[in-house]
Amino acid sequence: MAASPDKSNQMEKIVSLCKRRGFLFKNSEIYGGLNGFWDYGPLGVELKRNVKAAWWQDMVTSHDDLNKVENAPEPFAMTGIDSTIIMHPQVWKCSGHYDLFHDFMVDCRESNKRYRHDQIVGRWVEAKNQKIFVSAPASENCESDIETKALKFFNIRSKNRDQLAWIGDVVNLTTISESENVLAPDAKNLNTLTEPREFNLMFKTTVGALGNADDFAFLRPETAQGIFVNFKNVIDSTRYRLPLGIAQIGKSFRNEITPRNFTFRSREFEQMEIEFFCHPDESQKWYSYWRDRRLQWYHQMGISDERLIMREHHADELAHYSIGTADIEYAFPFLPSGEYGELEGVAHRGDFDLRSHMEGKLDESSNPLSLELDEHGQPKYRGSGKDLQYRDDLTNEKYTPHVIEPSAGADRAVLAFLCEAYTEDEAPDEKGKMQTRTLMRLHPRIAPIKAAVFPLVKKDGMPEVAKEIYLQLKKDHNVFYDEKGAVGRRYRRQDEAGTPYCITIDGETMENQTVTIRDRDSLEQTRVPVADIGNEIRNRINS
Ligand code: ATP
Repeated sequence: MAASPDKSNQMEKIVSLCKRRGFLFKNSEIYGGLNGFWDYGPLGVELKRNVKAAWWQDMVTSHDDLNKVENAPEPFAMTGIDSTIIMHPQVWKCSGHYDLFHDFMVDCRESNKRYRHDQIVGRWVEAKNQKIFVSAPASENCESDIETKALKFFNIRSKNRDQLAWIGDVVNLTTISESENVLAPDAKNLNTLTEPREFNLMFKTTVGALGNADDFAFLRPETAQGIFVNFKNVIDSTRYRLPLGIAQIGKSFRNEITPRNFTFRSREFEQMEIEFFCHPDESQKWYSYWRDRRLQWYHQMGISDERLIMREHHADELAHYSIGTADIEYAFPFLPSGEYGELEGVAHRGDFDLRSHMEGKLDESSNPLSLELDEHGQPKYRGSGKDLQYRDDLTNEKYTPHVIEPSAGADRAVLAFLCEAYTEDEAPDEKGKMQTRTLMRLHPRIAPIKAAVFPLVKKDGMPEVAKEIYLQLKKDHNVFYDEKGAVGRRYRRQDEAGTPYCITIDGETMENQTVTIRDRDSLEQTRVPVADIGNEIRNRINS
């Protein structure tokens, strides 16, 4: 029986397995690593490629555009593009990222550490006639961290902890009005935090050799804008009609103030985004469709109901142009119990993006902000001036399409799949003794290695037959050959790598041309004729 691992150190175990088995490495590790950047190792690269390939296949290439697919309001088309990371700087002025894409941060003058303002929590406490706000980074253990800090600050032994008089619950630093008497997370003295300051999350770079102020450009913080600016190109170069979804997978960059929680908040990451263009009158129905469809996709890829939620944003959380946004969230093990982290946002963006790229950045009342001038006396937020509207060739109606945007993070999806897959159970070893087994129950479609091929022993013609099967399977799948050590140990190594099937060539194979297939999760072994192995593995992966 699979046991649910102890949540308190589950994340540590996952991080350690990822390094040990080559899923994820700290970037530039030999130089001490660079915060917020992660490298995928030999197993990780296959896993991530499989996640992106499954998304692209399910959303784009295998999409049936001739018939109405399940729960869709009507038939629709899907296609893709691949745009560049560096785009015309005007794109970011009109999209709003240039002015609005920021977080608030605070610096600690004592520890020289920088924190995202909304990621610090704390609690008021009184002791020895002094009332202070003790803070810590938001985490599962923050309440006990806060207590430890308070005891230390007041120089009280833990056995005398009842001398601390707590006032209210743990609250976010952003919610307290007084800035006096705050003990910063890594400080010994009070009042060392600066006032919150805005920090633009876009990485700046220069294009060309001269590096003048005019040559500034940005690394894209999302892939979506590449789709908006190519909307007209896609319509004009194809025979697609609306409703149409345009998909893109690619790198995005955000200079996050406090990258953390493994790859969850990185500074370089990949997104899998769809901009779905439709008639304004139909947009509400499409919004509901995409919310449900995207939630279902994570279920299909193996995420359990208990750990996945859809969170509809409240009206006051919505951007002014947005008619609705829902986040698909996962109960990552590094979060306090009952809390969820965003995997994907599904947003109804109205006509905001296409209109901004036509007319210039829009203000709160959707008027173009064309009056502010740049250093050349040109409107700072000028749009392209191009007509990005759509004309329906059947009805002759011309309109600015509305957009539904399911925007997923490839790295967050990979992290959720890794967390969901991590399992410890009890299984018999070669001698029949029950031992703890660690396995990654990855869905066979995304498992880095689909099957491992083992000769039971390194003699009696078994390696030769095994190598033939291995080379045959390799034409269609990523498979692995291993003849070293006890077969039980070889199974265990594959369990940790998430390999769903192990094929063993034994004495019986030499007599009747059958092999065993061992299932990673059920441990069930079935005999299959050598001639059927290819079909059997293909069917199991796709079932
Ligand atoms: P968050 O609130 O967690 O910062 P966000 O709402 O800013 O995320 P979006 O702008 O909606 O995120 O980006 C879409 C998706 O891209 C997110 O749901 C997430 O999966 C992924 N993503 C965004 N920022 C990061 C990051 N720093 N590291 C890894 N993935 C990210």
